[in-house]
Amino acid sequence: MEPVKLFADVILPLALPELFTYEVPHELQASIVPGQRVVVQFGKQRVYAALVYRLHNNAPLNYETKDILEVIDELPVITQKQFDLWQWMSDYYLCHLGEIMAAGLPSALRLQSESVVVRNPTFTAEIENFTDREYLVWEAFEFQPELSIQEISKILSLKYVMPVIKNLIKKGAVQVHETIEEKYKAKYIDYVSLHDECPNEDDLGIFIQSIEKKAPKQVDLILAYFSFTRENDNDEVSKTSLLKRSDVNSSVLNALVKKKIFKVEKKQTDRLPIYTGDIVPAKELNIYQVNALKEIQYAFIENKVTLLHGVTSSGKTEVYIHLIQEVLSQGKQVLYMLPEIALTTQVIKRLQKHFGNQLLVYHSRFNEHERVEVWNKILDDNLNASSNKGKIVVGARSSLFLPFSNLGLVIVDEEHDHSYKQVDPAPRYNARDAAIVFAHKQDANVLLGTATPSLESYFNALSGKYSLVQLDKRFAGLEMPEVNIIDLKDAMKRKQMNGHFSSKLIDEISTVIENKQQVILFQNRRGFAPFLECGKCSWVPLCLNCDVALTYHKSKHELRCHYCGYLTHPPIKCGACGDHDLKMRGFGTERIAEDLQLILPNAVISRLDHDTTKNKNGFRQILSDFEEGSIDVLVGTQMVTKGLDFDNVKLVGILSADSMLHFPDFRSYERGFQLISQVSGRAGRKNSHGKVLIQTYNPSNKVLRHVIHHDYKSFYDQELVERYKFGYPPYTRLIELRLKHKDVKLIEDAADALAKSLKAGFGKRVLGPTTPTVTRIRNFYLRTILLKVEKTLSVADVKRKLVNAIDQFKKEPNNRQLIIHIDVDPI
Ligand code: ADP
Ligand code: ZN
Ligand code: ZN
Repeated sequence: MEPVKLFADVILPLALPELFTYEVPHELQASIVPGQRVVVQFGKQRVYAALVYRLHNNAPLNYETKDILEVIDELPVITQKQFDLWQWMSDYYLCHLGEIMAAGLPSALRLQSESVVVRNPTFTAEIENFTDREYLVWEAFEFQPELSIQEISKILSLKYVMPVIKNLIKKGAVQVHETIEEKYKAKYIDYVSLHDECPNEDDLGIFIQSIEKKAPKQVDLILAYFSFTRENDNDEVSKTSLLKRSDVNSSVLNALVKKKIFKVEKKQTDRLPIYTGDIVPAKELNIYQVNALKEIQYAFIENKVTLLHGVTSSGKTEVYIHLIQEVLSQGKQVLYMLPEIALTTQVIKRLQKHFGNQLLVYHSRFNEHERVEVWNKILDDNLNASSNKGKIVVGARSSLFLPFSNLGLVIVDEEHDHSYKQVDPAPRYNARDAAIVFAHKQDANVLLGTATPSLESYFNALSGKYSLVQLDKRFAGLEMPEVNIIDLKDAMKRKQMNGHFSSKLIDEISTVIENKQQVILFQNRRGFAPFLECGKCSWVPLCLNCDVALTYHKSKHELRCHYCGYLTHPPIKCGACGDHDLKMRGFGTERIAEDLQLILPNAVISRLDHDTTKNKNGFRQILSDFEEGSIDVLVGTQMVTKGLDFDNVKLVGILSADSMLHFPDFRSYERGFQLISQVSGRAGRKNSHGKVLIQTYNPSNKVLRHVIHHDYKSFYDQELVERYKFGYPPYTRLIELRLKHKDVKLIEDAADALAKSLKAGFGKRVLGPTTPTVTRIRNFYLRTILLKVEKTLSVADVKRKLVNAIDQFKKEPNNRQLIIHIDVDPI
């Protein structure tokens, strides 16, 4: 009888609808398990590291399987719990497992083959008939047995080298094959310790005396070694720090190695920063915090998702710290998510003091090696589940993909924040919602924290699906900041405007600075002016690739597209009528900072936005300067709104509330309320009562009224009525289809036809097609179709029908080029 064959279904890091099945050759059968990476060939030549999803004995019916070529990992890099999460994501967000793999696995673990060229060992023909270029390549093999396409391109100083290589192959001189190489490389450093044959202490003393005169530097080194090891209670010292401490060079060390006093060994080390500061106990909580903590713990007994609705500066973070401590001491893991890495700087500092090296940080500014190290630390930690030193990870949305399998608690801080949603590329997931699913799969608890809950979460809390815990007092008896509205129309009439600043705002800013306190100014636009406009004919310079006005950046004197990055010089005259009178319209952070500097020449003003924080430490530097008080006024985009905790901010100024509240989107009031309340919450967090000034042309706007009174509940009630009336979430679920095509006529027809065919199945639930505000991005024309689904309907059914309808539609020859992105729960 033939032995039973073993097959593996694998995930490739590509947007493929199906898993692929490979045969596991006999010699690999004993070592293969799901979650490992294996090398497989896919397509004609390419070789990939794929993930083993499951093993079985059923040969696929419709294709011949290839063999798995190699097993890369000794132990799985992905756990079963993660695969469960991935499967859920793929079903819920209508995306492919390969896309999730590409998003979730650190890039250094996702391997793809590279082509390498080698000499054909059996080649014997003459090399006389080689061209010069062919000869150059041939010769290069003398020094290096393998050449990548890139290397050949360098050797020949030629961009396209494939013709040359093809000719060499035809002549039988070279072969091409694919290799795959592990990108992650562990880091090794030299450690010094005593040689195995090193004399005991007494004899060592005698040795030291004997060389004291001749070789004083060697003595210095030996003494430095002992003082080091005693301090650290460790027999090993890194070579670099030892040489630095004893101030000698490595030849001195080499001499002692020869004399068999020391030995030097390479050891694998972490690239991750090590915390060496003191560990301090968590702060004692006040009565409100204690009660909140108890209520949360009580809700957790039932495993209920808990929404902690605590006003800004009520001390939510301190409550988190107590909860984290408890979970870690049970040997479980904690995931603490924040909407943006920008925010992590402050939180990490606060948490490190309590959790030292149990704290790990995971975000996109880490390099790929560092990310793999965090990943591996969690895998290790899974194996040490019984220890009472669990790990806590702080990270942005992608940290949800880390291989936790012993989670005790997930904290989603600032749960309302839209950056938890990944818009592009797929998976278009919301990390808050996916975290709840992930946590439930391993009996972990979930705490959502915010001062301004999303309507969805608050709705769930009031309906009893979540439990609701409130903290409605600021810590230490501080009052909520006093919010005042400045009516810009009125100020204009009275001639009390200085550019974009009302004189009241300027007066307050100067008073605050005089009193040695600080100011945050918020303007939700970066750059200098959002656009240029011809004073005569109203012509506006637009991006070549997108239907959107270019933003003027003064410091670099350039026009930039914020959608595709297109750059150009500002025109000197109008592109339509030729007039030279080009006016700057609107204003961004750059302009605000510059204008304010002219008005208040002695103030120290800094900017916090995308442009000033591009490099790795830009953010940290600006924040620490502000914290230390060397900046008076911080002008920022929404980066300044999020959770930052500064002691000395007295005043927050919002330059223009209107642009935030009048966006053509059903969420614009919600977002406006959140942004304005959050940025206001940066004022008066310690010591003194904060103040907020909001400039607006619509002082009677209802949302602003609720902001002034710090009245979330009334805002919520009012907004909910609207949502009900128009059938929006939380009363319905939305699925958005985003259509893209380079041909405007074609997209128009396709969008109409698709909407029509969807309406046949879904009726009035289908809205659109609509043309979005920005109608073209990167040369693709855009249309959207929206599906509103009642909560009583099975979403799974709806999605199945939807996917079928789209598949059917895409079969039409005209529609093949159409790109359709499906976004479930869009924001
Ligand atoms: P939130 O997260 O709700 O905005 P924080 O936790 O940042 O509030 O607290 C606001 C400020 O009050 C912080 O500077 C914090 O250190 C301080 N604070 C909060 N709770 C306590 C406490 N129990 N003891 C001492 N200081 C506290
Ligand atoms: Zn003009
Ligand atoms: Zn553009």
